Amino acid sequence: MRGEFAAMINLYALDETELAGFVVALGEKPFRAKQIWDWIYNKRVSSFEAMSNLPRATIQKLSRSARLGELAMAARQLSQDGTEKRLYRLPDGQLIESVLMPYDDGRQTACISSQAGCALGCVFCATGQMGFGRHLSAAEIFEQAMIFARDLAARGERLSNVVFMGMGEPFHNYDASLEAVVMLMDRLGIGARHITISTVGLVPQIRRFADEGLQVKLAVSLHKSDDSERSALMPVNRRWPIAELIDACRYYVERTKRRITFEWAAIAGENDTVAEAQRLGQLLAGLHCHVNVIPLNPTGGYAGRPAPAPDLERFLATLGQCGLNATVRVRRGIDIEAGCGQLKTAVIDADAIR
Ligand code: SAH
Ligand code: SF4
Repeated sequence: MRGEFAAMINLYALDETELAGFVVALGEKPFRAKQIWDWIYNKRVSSFEAMSNLPRATIQKLSRSARLGELAMAARQLSQDGTEKRLYRLPDGQLIESVLMPYDDGRQTACISSQAGCALGCVFCATGQMGFGRHLSAAEIFEQAMIFARDLAARGERLSNVVFMGMGEPFHNYDASLEAVVMLMDRLGIGARHITISTVGLVPQIRRFADEGLQVKLAVSLHKSDDSERSALMPVNRRWPIAELIDACRYYVERTKRRITFEWAAIAGENDTVAEAQRLGQLLAGLHCHVNVIPLNPTGGYAGRPAPAPDLERFLATLGQCGLNATVRVRRGIDIEAGCGQLKTAVIDADAIR
């Protein structure tokens, strides 16, 4: 049974030419490939049975030799605010998470993973705390968004935005992440401006990304404006300290003429002070950017707490006085541990108890 399963072709992993080759190899006419492509990506059906203009025999052949995707749902949680979080098991047993966030204005944003686990070890991050599993393939990254797009299509809705802010560091898995971006644009019709890649700050990749000529948005996780303090929270800072990181960000802005976003997980007493805001103001002076402040999501392996509301307000007001454009991002799915890596941790903890 397992052998048979392994021999199945994942159609999401094929491009249009490869799909045509596969369909012809099954003994079908080439035009069937176009119909199948249309069912998968335009009509967004989730089964071969739904492909109603295909002959019965074709559907049977497809069912025996191919599958639509390889992610198996392992857990699912729905938040009171409508945020939906999913944990998927990959064929080799690795677990990854993705989240769908509906917004009042009709936007539907998928937050997807680029790796199982993460090698960068940021101390406040649930994914960092679990270590590195493996890189995801482009198809595995893409499928997370595809499944949401499919589920939304079934109720007449559309996936509008995708953010690479789930598990893993997309620039540590650069080629697969970029390939997945192209798949999102070509197959799901999601505009580059509606896709955001978030990086911990891998300097060479930020420069490379700037040279790609894509309109995809870039977010950089900064969180601290002092090198030794940032290194304590984010080990990557020892390799690529703040000055080099900001240089690369300036290069990105000059090269692309695009605004860059800095993410700031506000931690009580750690990075929510007036002094910190002033230092950040100096660091980012003259850079076309936006600071996205997100109160920390507490995690099991880190004692930090979210910045209290009054400190957050003062921090933001100070940034404003320094001429920085900054907003607080509403925390989504807080009741379902929708923070990066948190569902997997919860499921593993629950397994350990059993
Ligand atoms: N590896 C990439 C993208 C995934 S993490 C990166 O680090 O940017 C997405 C965002 O969530 C990052 O800004 C990260 O710093 C932040 N994050 C991780 N753990 C968090 C937590 N416990 N609370 C708030 N933000 C967190
Ligand atoms: Fe990795 Fe990003 Fe988490 Fe850091 S914050 S450990 S880079 S996923």
